[in-house]
Amino acid sequence: MKSKVYFSERRSTSGRKSLAVKLGKLFDRLGYKDVMEKGELVAVKLHFGERGLTTFINPVFVRVVVERLLKKGLKPFLTDTNTLYIESRHNAVDHLQTAVRHGFGFATTEAPIIIADGLRGLDSKDVSLSGKHFETVKIAQAILDADSMVVLSHVKGHVISGFGGALKNLSMGCSSRAGKHMMHADMVPEVQEDKCRGDAVCVHHCPAHCITMVNKKAVIDKELCIGCGECVAACPHEAIKVDWTEDGNLMQERMAEFALGAVQDKRDKCCFINFLMDITPHCDCHDWSDSPFVPDIGILASCDPVAIDQASVDMINDQHGLANSKLSGSYLQGEDKFANLFPGCDYTRQLAHAENMGLGSREYELIKVG
Ligand code: SF4
Ligand code: SF4
Repeated sequence: MKSKVYFSERRSTSGRKSLAVKLGKLFDRLGYKDVMEKGELVAVKLHFGERGLTTFINPVFVRVVVERLLKKGLKPFLTDTNTLYIESRHNAVDHLQTAVRHGFGFATTEAPIIIADGLRGLDSKDVSLSGKHFETVKIAQAILDADSMVVLSHVKGHVISGFGGALKNLSMGCSSRAGKHMMHADMVPEVQEDKCRGDAVCVHHCPAHCITMVNKKAVIDKELCIGCGECVAACPHEAIKVDWTEDGNLMQERMAEFALGAVQDKRDKCCFINFLMDITPHCDCHDWSDSPFVPDIGILASCDPVAIDQASVDMINDQHGLANSKLSGSYLQGEDKFANLFPGCDYTRQLAHAENMGLGSREYELIKVG
């Protein structure tokens, strides 16, 4: 059966049609008022952005959602989980400071921030499921403790998963540190010696400090690597590659299983909003933002995380690619932009496996709002 995906386009021509107004209308269409009960604790899951990044979701949009939840008598809190790598969101203290620096303080959003996996990323519970890869997944405690969830996702490319949307936000974004390790297993990139120019840029970007220079060539310690992909994105000479063999692409499926674990206990009390704006090649975990590779499109909303991600991918690939971006081809409408950015990465695996696991449908009906 086709899932409903609501869409408002980016263009605004008056105050009544501002993007904030459109977002409110989209959110209302999801029917949260009917399924969330007064007094419920609502996790508003988002990504606050690594310090230095500028393309995270605008806090003004977050406030639109929070205001509606408050009006209904709900108790929203903003949440994300700590990172595997040691940067500005590695523990709850640093994470909160970064969030506030990026404008997500209470004065702007009217909701408190709770880091879902606790002070050091250790607070999680095992959730049982019948997956192809896992029988249990480690989901952050506050995600599980929440009664319902609104998942706000900035859609963009991703060096490991090809693209990142609602499924990525649910999987990597809702798991504890140990859970992230489970998904990243086997994802050690390779240095191509003939291309390596020995400038050590990757050494400085590696959060696990596992790259050393040996005879002016980068060498990765596979035992210490956490598979974050930072070095792949940072190398200016494209000398570090992810090996997109069968094993590499299996991470897509692991992510889908974690995504299911994050919502399993509240399937009918979750809704998803995807922001198709500032569509950059890399994820919000980097401390920089590249240029978008397609124009801003608008906002999507759905109760189905698979359908909203499928619609996001389709709409992005249906755009003209932008010059002066990371794209090196596939500029025409309909050509696969993600395949051009990350050749060999089969990002459709996350969608297909999520659908197979019963998390949602790749078939959708697009309904224009506003
Ligand atoms: S950044 Fe790239 S070129 Fe520079 S040392 Fe690392 S792998 Fe080699
Ligand atoms: S993927 Fe690259 S940056 Fe990340 S831990 Fe491994 S070597 Fe370091």
